[in-house]
Amino acid sequence: MADAFENILGQPKVREFLRASVVSERVTQAYLFVGPAGSNKTQAAYALAQALMCPKGPRGPRGGSCGACDRCGRILRRKHPDVRYFAPAGANGYLVEQVREIVADTALSPIQADKKIYILDRVDQLGASAANAFLKTLEEPADDVVMILLGRTRESVLPTIVSRCQVVPFRHIPASEAAGIVAQNTGADPAQARQAIEACGGSITSAVAFLRAPGSERLAFRTRLFSDLAMLQRADDWDVVEMARALVEASKAPLDEVRASQEAELAENADFLAKSAIRQIEARNKRQLSAKTSEYLRQTTAMVRSWLRDGLMVACGTPELVINTDVRDSLVALFSGADAAVIAAACSKVDECERALAYNVSPETCLDTLLFDVREVVHGSGRTD
Ligand SMILES: [Zn+2]
Repeated sequence: MADAFENILGQPKVREFLRASVVSERVTQAYLFVGPAGSNKTQAAYALAQALMCPKGPRGPRGGSCGACDRCGRILRRKHPDVRYFAPAGANGYLVEQVREIVADTALSPIQADKKIYILDRVDQLGASAANAFLKTLEEPADDVVMILLGRTRESVLPTIVSRCQVVPFRHIPASEAAGIVAQNTGADPAQARQAIEACGGSITSAVAFLRAPGSERLAFRTRLFSDLAMLQRADDWDVVEMARALVEASKAPLDEVRASQEAELAENADFLAKSAIRQIEARNKRQLSAKTSEYLRQTTAMVRSWLRDGLMVACGTPELVINTDVRDSLVALFSGADAAVIAAACSKVDECERALAYNVSPETCLDTLLFDVREVVHGSGRTD
């Protein structure tokens, strides 16, 4: 039976549980999905939204989600105005003010559907005061509201939140199994699937999108990044600065397409949407754009980490453990006989770079610092000049 839940890859128990809840109409109004990064919680939240909102109903011909109607399509493309996604707006988590806005929004009527679905990511970053602003809504949500909260572990979420939700545990998906799932869904070979998972911080859903990006844009970016990293050995300071600038620029390039599709969608809906709804959609589009930029920057740093990790494997005399097998020769040339401790230290510089990005330091500055650090390593490998 193909339905919305088929898309929840690698989580058969979650799939069965949600499917059974929808078919038997035992859906509650507040869910808490808990599981590690990359366990497909976001995908599952959108699948549940689709199953609940498809006008064909839960007993329809394909188990409650045709996947083909306008509404299913919009939800799948994450463009439905009544399915709203939130992530913490502050560097340290959700802001009280942000939670108040969400609470106020739940009191408004849906724009197109007969329900409103709120997906709140990283509720482990919901501090006590932000959570307090939210409790009443979670306890007695309006009849047409379903809340789906996502968190890393049950323990990391405040008990007052956990006790008001139906908890759905997601399992950690082992890397080899994840690669198999990605390969199966994209037709990529297992090595390439594994590389995409590395680039996407372990997320299967993102890895599938990575491999399917229009014009193989993400794969081309990866090739370019790895060739830049290998060239750092001979780069002077100005080369490094320019390389960082160009990489940040390239991380933004595909956003033009996102923007164009968002504008087309707004134009298409302008006739029947109230002004306030259009403003909401515009605000959401803006958030989506900046989330996409952050995602691409995270992929960039993840790929640098993965490349350095491979360098470490070469330095330790185990080149057969390299994950980015397509650049193994260049890694061997750079890192054979290199000092493993120096490479390991550079890996921790990647973590620093990611923290700086999370704190909204300019991406150019972050990448430029990281590339200088990496250059230090490849210079130190004893193969220069
Ligand atoms: Zn449908």
